[in-house]
Amino acid sequence: MKELRDAIRTQGQGIGLDVVKVDMFLNHRIETGLLFRMGGEIARRFREEKPDLVLTVEASGIALALTTAHALGDLPVVFAKKSATVVQSPDVAQAKVYSFTHKRENVIRVDKKYLPQGSRVLIVDDFLADGQACQGMMALCAQTGCQVVGIGVGIEKGFMPGGKNLRAMGVKLSSLAVVAGIEDGQIILADD
Ligand code: 5GP
Repeated sequence: MKELRDAIRTQGQGIGLDVVKVDMFLNHRIETGLLFRMGGEIARRFREEKPDLVLTVEASGIALALTTAHALGDLPVVFAKKSATVVQSPDVAQAKVYSFTHKRENVIRVDKKYLPQGSRVLIVDDFLADGQACQGMMALCAQTGCQVVGIGVGIEKGFMPGGKNLRAMGVKLSSLAVVAGIEDGQIILADD
């Protein structure tokens, strides 16, 4: 998606060898028009899969999941939580996920009633790196008897194994922009 690629090029920052910082429009400050157009594009790519709901994980996946779900006809968004609360239902699906950005293991959880058995689920996330977050969400869907109809990602780090592994599993995965690598703080984008 050209607009996203341009935003990454002009406003993104490469940190070290493998972190893409896009706080200016996606992860801290949100450029709302861009996010709605990104959601519209993911919706266009997955509309034919007829999802019933969009699943993401808090916090940074929520904005893109929301705009995608809106573009798909105001579908509900369910976001997996990373911490247990006193109001949490005892009937939860949960999975362990190693966080790439926080360098620690989180348990992600969803109240099973929000993932009704048989639902067609579109997973959406802002980034795809090792694929842990997406695989964790797939595990939640397996526990609740839901069908994952696809995975829509904002930015895929093509130099990390997540995308390759998910595609090898036969999942329909589509990313709006693919980063090929980082060189001297410069983000190198893969060709469209
Ligand atoms: P994975 O589970 O695929 O390794 O990582 C995906 C999750 O880690 C995303 O939900 C995203 O929040 C975070 N993440 C992974 N790599 C990056 C990155 O380079 N930049 C940012 N901002 N977040 C990332």
